[in-house]
Amino acid sequence: MQDSQIYKVAIIGSGPAGLTAGIYSARAGLKPLILAGLTFGGQLMLTTEVENFPGFPQGIMGPELMQNMLAQAERFGAKIVYEDVSEVDFKNKPFKLKASSGEFQAESVIITTGASTMWLGIPSEEQFRGKGVSSCATCDGFFFKNKDIIVIGGGDSAMEEANYLTKFAKSVTIVHRRDSFRASKIMADRALANPKISVIFNTEVTEFTGAEKLTGVVLKNVNTGETTNMPIDGAFVAIGHKPNTDIFKGQIDLDPKGYIIPTDTTKTNISGVFVAGDVRDYRYRQAITAAGMGCMAAMDVEKHLGMDHG
Ligand code: NAP
Repeated sequence: MQDSQIYKVAIIGSGPAGLTAGIYSARAGLKPLILAGLTFGGQLMLTTEVENFPGFPQGIMGPELMQNMLAQAERFGAKIVYEDVSEVDFKNKPFKLKASSGEFQAESVIITTGASTMWLGIPSEEQFRGKGVSSCATCDGFFFKNKDIIVIGGGDSAMEEANYLTKFAKSVTIVHRRDSFRASKIMADRALANPKISVIFNTEVTEFTGAEKLTGVVLKNVNTGETTNMPIDGAFVAIGHKPNTDIFKGQIDLDPKGYIIPTDTTKTNISGVFVAGDVRDYRYRQAITAAGMGCMAAMDVEKHLGMDHG
């Protein structure tokens, strides 16, 4: 069904950036439309305990934090639509956003589509996804009770996944392609101190093996080129993320990695289109920085609309 209303602001995405933009623009009386996606909440929906979001000294579960942010945006009058945006038209105003139920129009847009998990990209990975290969310990860890598993990657995500998986697994081996971790010291130290976790450095996974289900991996030492077979029951890929910007190609300036390029605070090269969160930020990528940018974007929109309408 076509929505004939022209919204003052439409927010694409519903992670910490999108929902904070929703809270601020709703409180500013802009009656925002939040196109939250089929699955709302962004990456924190796939995490367990968030220990570093200020205000929660005992930590808070990621999904609970996002549910709270959603309720807060709704409380002030944000309209939430649980649909994915498949196409945008930023060439003319009002801007047009196509979703499954039809087209939405808005005078301004805040892009907060975030980033998605990266995969190794080897053919056998696809074959065993959901059959032993996963990228979400929170979602799938439970299936690996008393099993031997590996986590691929050397960043904070890999450390977090490895630690979490020790709740279920018999053993967790972190396989990292270099000789030192990228992860923060506190997260790396925590993983290294865990008796269930061991590490294989300077090693890549070149193949996932098995029949119906994953039963092993082929490991390659990057220094010697030597390959070995390692029997395992599960593999969690935790090697980073890529920005969700496919629908914006040709509509807005993207950098070579696909991130949206902000021109000034949250502005983009298109007047009236703003950006916040991981979709523009590969450096900090934190819930709190995304939320902060969402707040900034809402305030920038308010100013933009005020200027436009005298
Ligand atoms: P990241 O910091 O980019 O780390 C990605 C890791 O995967 C790196 O160690 C990288 O190796 C490795 N990698 C990348 N591509 C690979 C490939 N094709 N094959 C094998 N290994 C590959 O990503 P992240 O760990 O997802 O963290 C992203 C951001 O979120 C960081 O700023 C992090 O601090 C934050 N974060 C915070 C928490 C927390 O505080 N609780 C939890 C998770 C994430 P190289 O090191 O060789 O590049």
